[in-house]
This record gives sequence, C-alpha cells and structure tokens, in this order.
Amino acid sequence: MVQQTVLRKTSGVRGLIIYRGPSMLGNGNVVCVATLRTSNRKTGDMVQTWILPDDGLSPLRAVQAELNAQACGSCPLQGYWNGRKLVDRVCYVNLGQAPDAVWRGLQRGIYPVYNRQTHEHLLLGRKIRLGAYGDPAALPYNLLRYLCDISSGWTGYTHQAFWIDPQRAEFLASILMVSCHNSAQRIEALRRGWRPFTTIRADEERPTESVECPAYTHGVSCARCGLCKGLASNARPVYVIAHGKPGLNLGSVQRKGE
Ligand code: SF4
Repeated sequence: MVQQTVLRKTSGVRGLIIYRGPSMLGNGNVVCVATLRTSNRKTGDMVQTWILPDDGLSPLRAVQAELNAQACGSCPLQGYWNGRKLVDRVCYVNLGQAPDAVWRGLQRGIYPVYNRQTHEHLLLGRKIRLGAYGDPAALPYNLLRYLCDISSGWTGYTHQAFWIDPQRAEFLASILMVSCHNSAQRIEALRRGWRPFTTIRADEERPTESVECPAYTHGVSCARCGLCKGLASNARPVYVIAHGKPGLNLGSVQRKGE
C-alpha cells in the first residue's frame, strides 16, 4: 500500500479543498483542505485534513480575535490571546507553521476544489487523518462518512463530545476518539459509549483500561497503528503522556475541569 501511494500520480496537486461552508459547530464558516503529502513522522503517510476558519483571517489571527470556534469548537487547548501573547495554549499545533502555510496556499489559489470524478483516486485507499488542525465535528456527516469509506483507515479526535446533540454524538463516536484531559472526563466518555484518548501528566496514574499510544512505546506511526478511529476499532482506549511544554500546560486545562 505504501508503494502504491508513493507511485500514485498527483499531477502536481498538493492539496484539495474538500469542504467550504457552514461549520457544523456553528459560529461561522470553515474550509477544509486535504493535503496529500506529509513529512510528519508520527502520523506517517496519511492525507492530512486542515479545518480552518474561513472568514478571511489567518489561523493565528483567528485565535487572537477569538474567531476560531467554528474550527475548534470549545476545545480547551486553544488558549487565549491576552493582548500580547497566547496564554494557556496546550494545542501541539503551531499556528504559525502548517496551518498558516495551508491558509497561505488557499490565498494563492493553489488548491483545486475537490471533484469526485477528477480527484477521488488521490484519496482512494489512502490513510486519512481527520483534523490535522481543527475538529472533525465541524465537518458535515456525509463528508466524514465518505472520507472514511474511501480510505484504507483513518484517525480522528473531537473535543465536542460532551455537549453535541445525541444523534450527532452517536455518529461521531463511531469514527472519532474523544479527547480527554482528566480521569473524570475519561470515565464520563466511557459511560457515554465513546472511546477516549486521554492525555495525562507524567506524574499521574495510568488508566488501567487504556493502552499507551504505541507511537511512544514502540515508535509506530499512526498510519500503521490505526487505533484512533473511535468505535470503528474495538481495541482498548488510548492514553498518552504529555511531554514538554504541553505537559506543563496540561495542568491548567485540568484545573479548569475542561
Ligand atoms: S494510538 Fe496509534 S493511531 Fe492513536 S495516536 Fe497513537 S500511534 Fe496514532
């Protein structure tokens, strides 16, 4: 499969606009770009989907202006702008790097709008990462279902599990992990029938019903592992130990109880 992917003809297409319209999280519009190549060693060879606010602001400016909810919903990892800098930001995505590069590409018009007849072969049979930036819950049901159906596997996470309406939650739980940041969230997620992906501090007790992410224990890429696809996998839930600066900041998210 990897060899097929490498040999696949992309005709110079670097990415595709696979959705542009209202966010399913409300608050405005989003644009979703699927980029076809990545150097991300943790995910491995996966199509990356970038869900960005679509109101003319760069991803960083959108967070600074508190106009990012259509892409990230109520995710507590976004942090906030205190007038001088971003504070309490735990999200591992550097807004000034990949999301900004994708946004600039959009401004330059380098991404064609997805057309099933012309472009489906570029996604067919690939592994797809739902939400390299942004929350997949912002995308319409049919699009998510379609991407999962044509892929050979996917990963995805949402932070919206605890407030989204039950009907939509049932579908999202079938394909996405719910991101949790403390044991109360993890237990509630399990009670509601989700598969949690829990981030813990290095000094916290390990959740016994979950397995540690194999990327850290065995150096496996997400493309090969594929555990993080909600209830589409009947494997155990997953936890990861937050390292570095995000690990230090995780305490602030946990204290907020979010
Ligand atoms: S458990 Fe597997 S799919 Fe999930 S983040 Fe870790 S390596 Fe990726």
